[in-house]
Formats: sequence, structure tokens, C-alpha cells
Amino acid sequence: MTEAGKPFNCPICLELAYKPVVQGCGHMFCFWCVHRSMNTETVSHCPVCQKSYVHLPRISPQLHHLLQNIYPHEYESRELEVSTEESDQNNYSPEIAPSTSSSPRATLSCKVCKKLLYKPVAMNCGHLMCQSCAAAGPSNSCRVCGVPHPGAFPLVCVELEQYMEIEFGRDYKPDSAKSNDMRAVTKSWKSPPADNPDEVGIVQNPIHPSVGCDGCGMMPILGKRFHCLDCPESCGYDLCQNCHERGNSLPGRFNQRHGPRHRMEERSLRSPWIFVWAW
Ligand SMILES: [Zn+2]
Ligand SMILES: [Zn+2]
Ligand SMILES: [Zn+2]
Ligand SMILES: [Zn+2]
Ligand SMILES: [Zn+2]
Ligand SMILES: [Zn+2]
Repeated sequence: MTEAGKPFNCPICLELAYKPVVQGCGHMFCFWCVHRSMNTETVSHCPVCQKSYVHLPRISPQLHHLLQNIYPHEYESRELEVSTEESDQNNYSPEIAPSTSSSPRATLSCKVCKKLLYKPVAMNCGHLMCQSCAAAGPSNSCRVCGVPHPGAFPLVCVELEQYMEIEFGRDYKPDSAKSNDMRAVTKSWKSPPADNPDEVGIVQNPIHPSVGCDGCGMMPILGKRFHCLDCPESCGYDLCQNCHERGNSLPGRFNQRHGPRHRMEERSLRSPWIFVWAW
């Protein structure tokens, strides 16, 4: 058992975050805790700051490796706990490749400037970078993998920042070559989805309740929905229109073995009283 309030404890289950995801507001949770707390029919809200969101972020492999590194025993027992639950429910979280770096310092380097992260932000794809590195890139996408980043410019993951300040002391500092004023750059990013469901398209678009997009993590899918006819996993594989147009090789949000040759079919909206068991 862990005490609540310990760094990197998930605010939902109060245990060490397992397979951590960071939302655009900067708050960190277990993958499954966010997934289970999302509203399957409309906008979801961060349980800590109440900011609205409609996309489940991908797990951050860097944070996964960090927690594995600094809390080896506790993380392993969390892994055991979660994998038992997963096999009971026959629904699995994505596998994360083992770490190639041995220390927290190496794990916490920025994917863009390769230096120690400063004011770390997580993109929807799970990559970590300095906030200034994200701001210097193109709007609304990740500078490392090019994947679109839905929603507003990501806020600093404060918990990780506090850990880094303590752990790295004076080495935790901004790169002097970078400008601290990011206002001009971040203005070009789309504004955050407001609490008004109208602004995230909930009102104008057909909604596919309980069906999430395996590309960008949008849940529920708004607008057109494409379903894979060949993925055998019980969670299924679905894409929103944007992701479908980007190509058919996006890895699933779970452990699907989806491939580019799989057949995708557009699914119309079912009658609202039929619950769609897809996520
Ligand atoms: Zn949790
Ligand atoms: Zn939040
Ligand atoms: Zn950087
Ligand atoms: Zn990325
Ligand atoms: Zn999508
Ligand atoms: Zn498939």
C-alpha cells in the first residue's frame, strides 16, 4: 500500500501510477484510470482540475521507464495487479518496449533537444519534451513523430517538474538559447475544448457512444466512424474520420495487432438504445 500524496501517485486510485498518461492539463494518471473515468457519451473532465477533454492520451514510455527505475518493487507489484485484472477482463493495455537508458537522467531527456527536460510537457502521442521545444514546433502536432496533438497547447506536468527540481537541482534549468516567451507561438494552437459541448462538436456531429478512436484517442468518436473487420481482439479497432484519412497503420490504443492490410468499414450510428461494446 502506498500513501496518497506521494509523488507519481495517481489521483484516481491513489496508488503509484501504472502505465502513466499525462493529460493536456499536465495531470498524470494510470492508463486504465483515465480510460475508466472518461465519459463515454460526451466531454470528459480532469478529476483534478476539471479541464475538459475528449482524447485519451497515449502512455508515456519515458514516464513508465522512470517509475520502473525509481520504484522497482512497487511498480512491479502494480504491474502484477494490473495484468491479473487485464487477463480477467480479457482487455489489455498496450505493451511498452523495455528501456534502453539506465538512469532517470537519461530517461528524462527531451525528445527534441536531447538535453535534460525543462518544463516538461507530454504530447497526446506520449512523447515528452520541453515546453519551449514543443512551442518552437508546428502548431497542433508532435515535433518528434508528427502525429496531430488534439486540443490546446499542453501544460507543464507539474508533478514531473517537482521531481526533477529535487532530483537534479541546479542541472534542472532552461536552455539559455531558447526564448522564454512562448505566448506568440502558442497562440497559433487551437484553443482548448471549452466546457460547452457545442465547441468540441458534440452537438453538430453524430456521436458514437462508448466507441473510442484508436488513432487519436477521441472518445466518444464524433462524426464518421470506421471499424476494422479483421482485428479479433474483444476491444475492437476503430478510427475517426481524420485518423482514417491519415492511413491505416496507426497502432491501437490497447494491444490490438492491427495491420495496414486490415479491412476498414464505415459504421453508421446505431440506435441510441443499443450499447456499443467497443471500448
Ligand atoms: Zn490510477
Ligand atoms: Zn487536470
Ligand atoms: Zn527540449
Ligand atoms: Zn510524438
Ligand atoms: Zn482519431
Ligand atoms: Zn485491424
